[in-house]
Amino acid sequence: TVTIRDLSKSFSINGRDLNVLKAFDLDIHAGESLAIVGASGSGKTTLLRVLAGLEYADGGEVLIDGRPIQGIGNERAVIFQEPRLLPWRTVLDNVSFPLEMRRLDAATAQKRALHYLTLVGLRDFAEALPAQLSGGMAQRVGIARALAVQPEILLLDEPLGALDAMTKITMQEELTRIWTEEKVTMITVTHDLEEAVYLADRVLILPKEKGGAIRLVPVDLPRPRDRSDPRFVHLRE
Ligand code: ATP
Repeated sequence: TVTIRDLSKSFSINGRDLNVLKAFDLDIHAGESLAIVGASGSGKTTLLRVLAGLEYADGGEVLIDGRPIQGIGNERAVIFQEPRLLPWRTVLDNVSFPLEMRRLDAATAQKRALHYLTLVGLRDFAEALPAQLSGGMAQRVGIARALAVQPEILLLDEPLGALDAMTKITMQEELTRIWTEEKVTMITVTHDLEEAVYLADRVLILPKEKGGAIRLVPVDLPRPRDRSDPRFVHLRE
């Protein structure tokens, strides 16, 4: 469980303080899928970066299972819009890279990397180089790389934002399958309301005007997500 208490964050721009996150509380349950939406500039990425430990809050705290987060911990992994793969390393070696950084022995790292590559359907591309992949495949490698460290919490910032519409739909289904199989907590920032509804149990709407209410909307859809479900179709219309 992620507990956010009284969290605030502001940036100083041209000598003026911009309150991006203003004292708010939120509990994110273990295993749930939460989407964060809101207008451009509402602070979605800032919130995700604070949760990832890439940014410090000015006030309040973030706890994971009751313990304050400390920097970027092993229990969290982040997926950005661009996977930024290392071009000179094979796909497999890109996925094993964070494991090598964590000093796992090479054999275990490779074995685990191959497991997660298989999970995202790219086993056959293990020896390929990133330049040989499509955008969707590259992002799948990024997802495998994040999963390989076996995080409890997956933080995704516009993970499908750079992909074409068809690839997006396939990848939304894949993310849902991964979320179900791996039992991770998934927190996804997205511009796309339909994507938020598809991926999440609850949607957090950040207000553009600070002081405005932060709203949480439960998404009442059956699982596994079925796009032919009349309620889903209704939401799309
Ligand atoms: P978008 O949908 O456009 O990505 P967002 O909701 O993710 O927007 P953030 O990127 O969190 O919004 O930015 C919120 C506000 O904080 C913006 O007004 C931005 O200018 C400001 N901001 C973000 N990071 C910094 C920074 N490092 N220094 C100064 N201001 C910042």
